[in-house]
Amino acid sequence: MTATSTHDVAVVGAGVVGVCCALTLQAAGHRVTIYDPEPPGEATSFGNAGIIANGSITPYSSPDLWRAIPAMLLDPMSPLSLRWRHFPRAAPWIAQFLAAGLPKSFERITREMAPLVGAAVQAHDDLMRAHRVDPALVRSTGYLMAYRSAQKFATTSLVRKSLADHNVRFEVLDADELRQLEPGLARDFVTALYIPDGGSVVESVALTRAYADAFQGLGGQIKPHAVERIELGPDGPKGVVTDGQVLAADRVVVAAGAWSAPLARQLGSKVRLEAKRGYHINVPWSDGVVLNRPVVVGEGQYTLAPMRDGVRITGGVEIGGLDLPPDYRRIRRLLPHARASLPGLGESIDREWMGHRPALADSKPVIGPSPHHHGVVYAFGHGHLGLTLSAVTGRLISEIIAGQQPSIPIDPYRIDRF
Ligand SMILES: Cc1cc2nc3c(=O)[nH]c(=O)nc-3n(C[C@H](O)[C@H](O)[C@H](O)COP(=O)(O)OP(=O)(O)OC[C@H]3O[C@@H](n4cnc5c(N)ncnc54)[C@H](O)[C@@H]3O)c2cc1C
Repeated sequence: MTATSTHDVAVVGAGVVGVCCALTLQAAGHRVTIYDPEPPGEATSFGNAGIIANGSITPYSSPDLWRAIPAMLLDPMSPLSLRWRHFPRAAPWIAQFLAAGLPKSFERITREMAPLVGAAVQAHDDLMRAHRVDPALVRSTGYLMAYRSAQKFATTSLVRKSLADHNVRFEVLDADELRQLEPGLARDFVTALYIPDGGSVVESVALTRAYADAFQGLGGQIKPHAVERIELGPDGPKGVVTDGQVLAADRVVVAAGAWSAPLARQLGSKVRLEAKRGYHINVPWSDGVVLNRPVVVGEGQYTLAPMRDGVRITGGVEIGGLDLPPDYRRIRRLLPHARASLPGLGESIDREWMGHRPALADSKPVIGPSPHHHGVVYAFGHGHLGLTLSAVTGRLISEIIAGQQPSIPIDPYRIDRF
């Protein structure tokens, strides 16, 4: 890269997505500053299930969901809940979300997500190798969806068909095969869907921190300020405004997760971004508990994720916006179920956590340039897949800022697609 094609880049947001963008850009020769009042990875990126989910190519809205939703909203154990006070604001997003599950949209979105998700594992591998990030932070053990009934497993037929159509490797395991991989699981699981090429992190925030350390090691700056707005000149950004001051930048990457919509709106792009709130509880390891990889328990739609500090039980999608306080009752109710799935798991919870998945209704992120302002680029809305897609998003954003043809077509992820 020549000196004239480098830029002063401001990255808004130090979640896993912003940090991956910043690291890739800094390594490409730009002068990059991340702005975030929080330390790297402390928001939504802190508490996820840690899966680099190369099998998650289908949208979260599906043809079956329509029928299931009314019962789910009434069931206190279901993985879906709605904070009714937030309903009037969320209603248009919910309508778009349901439409995304119609068979034609489902197929199209799957087709559009497959190349992005398919590049995710390799992109992390490349980024980690390039910056000598400790390879032990990511396990290459794949992940499982385990089922207690063949009937429930049958509901994955559309997902399995989509995986097969897009050449994502998977195996259907019987009870014995599952036991060989996960001897610590309860004996009443009868089958599982195994995605062997996925990865998982040993602690979600540790990978973001490692990428942030590499970024700073290359001379990248992290400033603990919230960006109020982006200052524009005739040729694009002049800088970002924090505490009333303009801090110079000629390129801006908006990667503020679930908080990105107001910044996009200031820049002329109205985007419906919902916070799909999700929870975890952490149960410290106890002797004899064995969990080698993340296991999604199909019947309960919760995940048992092995982390350094314990078994993280993640679950739930709560449509509740950014401002309402967390309601931990539902995730707490999962503990006895988790203990039945993983015998020997302790009874004490040492952390309760909630995060805001930044979600567009069609389950696709926004990755691409602003249609209104040259030099502004968006990288947000990764929903359930921000960890998975962070490294590949960083690569795409770096290509866009360099004026190169993106290595994956980005038209499906443009901000004005609705
Ligand atoms: C329970 C749960 C389980 C999950 N499991 C998985 C999983 O297994 N695999 C997977 O891939 N994904 C998973 N996810 C999703 C994943 O965690 C998110 O998609 C991802 O963390 C989003 O990253 P982000 O960088 O976009 O946002 P965040 O991590 O939320 O970071 C956004 C940052 O922007 C900052 N910010 C906001 N406004 C401003 C501003 N004006 N100026 C400066 N900074 C600002 C915030 O302080 C924050 O630090 C899960 C999510 C949840 C909730």
